[in-house]
Amino acid sequence: MDNTTKNIVLATVAVALLGFAGFRLLGGRSDPRHLPDEIPGAGVCLACGLEVQYGRAPGESEPFECPACGERAVLPWLYCYECDHRFVTNLIRNEDGPARANAFPICPHCNCRNFGAFMPESGRQAPVGDAPLPKWP
Ligand SMILES: [Zn+2]
Ligand SMILES: [Zn+2]
Repeated sequence: MDNTTKNIVLATVAVALLGFAGFRLLGGRSDPRHLPDEIPGAGVCLACGLEVQYGRAPGESEPFECPACGERAVLPWLYCYECDHRFVTNLIRNEDGPARANAFPICPHCNCRNFGAFMPESGRQAPVGDAPLPKWP
């Protein structure tokens, strides 16, 4: 094998390796088990009243930071299946930390617990109104 042939062989191997690496990279990106970095949702800011489309990291819990006023006061909309109202859970202010969302909310309009996340794209939810927002503590 002279030097020219040797170089061609080496170049071919390099191209094949690069192609394989590229394939692995693209394959990894379309892996259906890969979770999105941010989960989209709709909510409202208790501090300034702005309706917000937010993206939350998996495992991040509300309240989320408001893009308008910067407070961690954005809560996701919930939907009550009994009275067809949207509402958000109230916040509990800790003396030694940031406000936390009440983990056991009830619908403030009809006082029931038959609610779920508000998902307008599901087509099964048609809100007739919004319950008054709880106070930003
Ligand atoms: Zn705000
Ligand atoms: Zn209700």
